[in-house]
Amino acid sequence: MILDMFSLKGKTAAVTGANTGLGQGIALAFAEAGAKVAVVGRSPMDETLGKIKSFGGDAFPIKADLADVAVCQRIVDETVGKFGGIDILVNNAGIIRRGDSIDFTEKDWDDVMNVNLKSLFFLSQAAARQFVKQGQGGKIINIASLLSYQGGIRIPSYTSAKSGVLGLTRLLANEWASKGICVNGIAPGYMVTNNTEALRNDPIRYKAILERIPAGRWGQPADLAGAAVFLASPASDYLHGFTIAVDGGWLGR
Ligand code: NAD
Repeated sequence: MILDMFSLKGKTAAVTGANTGLGQGIALAFAEAGAKVAVVGRSPMDETLGKIKSFGGDAFPIKADLADVAVCQRIVDETVGKFGGIDILVNNAGIIRRGDSIDFTEKDWDDVMNVNLKSLFFLSQAAARQFVKQGQGGKIINIASLLSYQGGIRIPSYTSAKSGVLGLTRLLANEWASKGICVNGIAPGYMVTNNTEALRNDPIRYKAILERIPAGRWGQPADLAGAAVFLASPASDYLHGFTIAVDGGWLGR
């Protein structure tokens, strides 16, 4: 049955930055679809764990600060130790720093690149090595951005990192597709999370953005659920290296 291809029953996933926002939405969707989920991040995961347990889902927290790539191998090891394997990785954790490029600091450059791009690569590498060891392929989903396609303003390290995520998603797919590993991305549009709080608190920017979204509303974390489950499931087994925009139509405008 076609709907069975979208099931994550029997699969194990790790989702970074799952305590809130888009990562929490993806973790909930995976658990609802039947996966066991390692919820990974530097902050307490109580809210996400509570929500998953409320409908009988299976989840496990892993505390890790992705500012340091040294945690990447441990995240995979702990997931495998708890659940016996890993089938799906979502690289969702990300930060943003705003500032005019003329004044932008090295720290604001490095902090964003380390979490949004460097750790994303080394965590993908650690997961892929485990997928190869298990011999059954795997799924990696990278959370990109509209800033993977557009320049934006006053977020030079974020645009650089997210543009890098788009390219890296293609490269890893080229190298790993033959091993049965699907590497794809999701580019969310303007979503209501902590990441966009500053924009939403600026009435002029908020209105300007809203008016440009064809769907006529900002996105919610639950809006990513369908694309995330699709990319994590057997339904997308022949999909490699592509980043799907879930943006209310923004990029088509
Ligand atoms: P958010 O700020 O609510 O969530 C970010 C998550 O990343 C949090 O769970 C946070 O704890 C985690 N994180 C940050 N630094 C970390 C670190 N050093 N170690 C471990 N975890 C860390 O924002 P969000 O909107 O849910 O962002 C999720 C992803 O989606 C990010 O990669 C963001 O760039 C991307 N994104 C968001 C939007 C949007 O409009 N909200 C649009 C495009 C892309």
